Amino acid sequence: MTGAPTHAGALVELRAVTVVYPDGTVGLSEADFRLDAGELVVVSGPSGAGKSTLLAAISGRLPASVGSVLLDGAEAASMGAAELAAWRRSTAFVAQGAPMLERRTVAENVAYAVEIARPDVHDCRSVAQDVLEGLGIGETGDRRPSELSGGQRQRAALAQALAKAPVALFVDEPTANLDPRTAAQVVAVIASHCQDRMACVVASHHDAQFALSSARRLWVSDGRLGAVPSRSYETLTDVGP
Ligand code: ADP
Ligand code: MG
Repeated sequence: MTGAPTHAGALVELRAVTVVYPDGTVGLSEADFRLDAGELVVVSGPSGAGKSTLLAAISGRLPASVGSVLLDGAEAASMGAAELAAWRRSTAFVAQGAPMLERRTVAENVAYAVEIARPDVHDCRSVAQDVLEGLGIGETGDRRPSELSGGQRQRAALAQALAKAPVALFVDEPTANLDPRTAAQVVAVIASHCQDRMACVVASHHDAQFALSSARRLWVSDGRLGAVPSRSYETLTDVGP
């Protein structure tokens, strides 16, 4: 760390960050980015453009090869393991196909996340149930994760993340397996949580729903982060497998 934070208020900042994978593939190229508390940011772009890489970098889960990642004002590369772990615990990351513990029910999985992240909460089960209901899957609480449909599992993983009341939520393709109506519901739940100061960055390769919400929108193409091109959102986002 280099003393006092230079950008008071920014939860995350990337300064000219390039991420190169061990095999030499460039996942992200000279990206500048800033995330403030309570902001909802949607990052779109074709498959393979660098959306997941960006999420991994801004959530402190993947180091920059070049440039600086600042987490709550602290240089990630200079943070110790405990400090980095504490940052990660205060945030939540929902990867595509995020796993849940099969030996617990869905509600137990979510309640467990609350128990770990929020020691002040006494009735973890009721918090878990509320979040599941907000996402339209209240009836799945007593089932095992393997008994859910793809879309339900995706929402259960999101419930687990939201129930932690993170300072920042990073979600990779949250509506990929959902019908338009359910996708809209999930978007609304994410957006409403953002209003409670939780910042959220969503990566999505085909998200007309997110285009309609109040989100700040960014575009990634070939690892380069920028503004969304002026051409039709859906036309552009339908690129890729
Ligand atoms: P998106 O999420 O937009 O589909 P990614 O961030 O997953 O894109 O990938 C960006 C680029 O980095 C792609 O060329 C992809 O093949 C590559 N990439 C992603 N993960 C790895 C990895 N673990 N090792 C090597 N290359 C990777
Ligand atoms: Mg991806």
